[in-house]
Amino acid sequence: VKKVAVIGAGIAGISAAIRLQSKGYKVSVFEANNYPGGKLTAFEGKGYRFDMGPSLFTMPQFVEELFEITGRNSKDYFDYIRKDVVCNYFFEDGTTFTAHAKPEDFAAEAEAVFNVDKKVVLDYFERSKTKYDLTAGLFLEKSLHQFSTYLNSQTIKAIFNLSVLDINSTLNEVNEKLIKEPKLVQLFNRFATYNGSSPYLTPGIMSMIPHLEQHFGTYFPKGGMHQITMSMYNLAKELGVEFYFESKVEEIITDRNRAVGIKVKNKTLPFDIVVSNADVVPTYRKLLPKHKAPEKTLAQPRSSSALIFYWGIKHSFENLDLHNIFFSEDYKTEFDYIFNKKTVHHDPTVYINITSKDEPTDAPDGCENWFTMINVPSNTGQNWDSIIESARTNVIKKLSRLLHKDIEALIEYEFVLDPRGIESKTQSYQGALYGASSNNKFAAFLRHPNFKRSIKNLYFCGGSVHPGGGIPLCLLSGKIVSELIEISH
Ligand code: FAD
Repeated sequence: VKKVAVIGAGIAGISAAIRLQSKGYKVSVFEANNYPGGKLTAFEGKGYRFDMGPSLFTMPQFVEELFEITGRNSKDYFDYIRKDVVCNYFFEDGTTFTAHAKPEDFAAEAEAVFNVDKKVVLDYFERSKTKYDLTAGLFLEKSLHQFSTYLNSQTIKAIFNLSVLDINSTLNEVNEKLIKEPKLVQLFNRFATYNGSSPYLTPGIMSMIPHLEQHFGTYFPKGGMHQITMSMYNLAKELGVEFYFESKVEEIITDRNRAVGIKVKNKTLPFDIVVSNADVVPTYRKLLPKHKAPEKTLAQPRSSSALIFYWGIKHSFENLDLHNIFFSEDYKTEFDYIFNKKTVHHDPTVYINITSKDEPTDAPDGCENWFTMINVPSNTGQNWDSIIESARTNVIKKLSRLLHKDIEALIEYEFVLDPRGIESKTQSYQGALYGASSNNKFAAFLRHPNFKRSIKNLYFCGGSVHPGGGIPLCLLSGKIVSELIEISH
């Protein structure tokens, strides 16, 4: 039986472990923290429960698949509800918009609120579907970097030339052309942030993301996002995967350009196969110091990070739901601050996630657990303490203005997480949420592959490598890695 070491118990690492163990490999997972899940974890304070990282759950079928391939019913481990309302949007001039899950309802609301013809919106969703259908199998579900008969440079050239994919314009340009109405353009521009990019730089193909929400739906896991991690962790343990916590891997041991083991707590442990779920930058810099690093790949600008205020709020807001967005007035300048000036604008877009809307036990009676987040640049040594101080004041002012309530007076619990904390908790380079940003049209090709030609038996999964960050793509990276390993071993 071949022995596999997985470095990191992030969801990509756990998903690779489940797949490989179920195929007959003997898998051990080494995790630096004393808990599984990496960014997908939770905590409690003063009677409030908070999901620490991800809050939006799409494509649950990728989680379910892990249970199905091991002959189990995912519902015995993990359950979730489908949301009718995807998000509530608030604009500074008092306009509010309820984004319904059903495309027809969304379009009807867009007509009522923004005076945009229903057909314009429904055509946009249709185009978004075409983009997804044409590219998902190629770019997301396979190892992009292993050229085979169906994917060669000719095919890629052809794809770039397909005008329906909108690869050669920015997302903002595509939205301005197809939607026109400025507020609705801003709303569709926001999808660039789903992988930590700017709508004014990321290619128009990102307009496929609304299809994921509108067609596949958005969900809320019973018990909170953390249940995704816990159900997968329990399944992995049941299958016999061994987990070692507080076990930071110090080096990947190689011999004649083959990975042959890892070093943990100064001990060398032999393995046939090594899978790194750690961010690809520290994987090279710290774990493979003697090997030549792919400098061009590692130098790709990072995606945005986050500044989060976890607030216990002693009030219940009727007009808020699970996901709520309070838009900045000048979106373009906000992104210019994040990606060019590398700081935070005084009027940031604020996202509030309130799980107690769907899971009342997450907050005391009559109260709400607010995960209040703004997009910020990755950590390149900014003065975060001063950024946090002014951002906190500006966020509270904005929310008090738009919700007609003194928010400061309602905060009875507070915990703050910034890019430095995200970096130190998960070893993500610069605390970026999604590895490299997708701020240019070649980004998909510049992500690190899931394997390394010059070091045999070494594989990579997680948000910093192909196909990218976010829960669904991380789960797919675990799948791609397990398929690559099965082919070669
Ligand atoms: P990570 O979660 O990055 O975990 C990597 C693990 O490896 C960590 O546990 C770390 O301790 C461990 N590790 C690193 N180095 C070593 C070592 N040397 N030895 C041992 N262990 C090591 N995604 C969504 O889909 N929806 C969202 O709404 C969303 N919102 C987000 C909000 C925030 C605030 C954050 C932080 C992220 C968000 N994301 C969201 C992104 C999502 O969380 C990530 O893409 C995903 O969880 C990353 O998983 P991963 O497998 O790459 O590993």
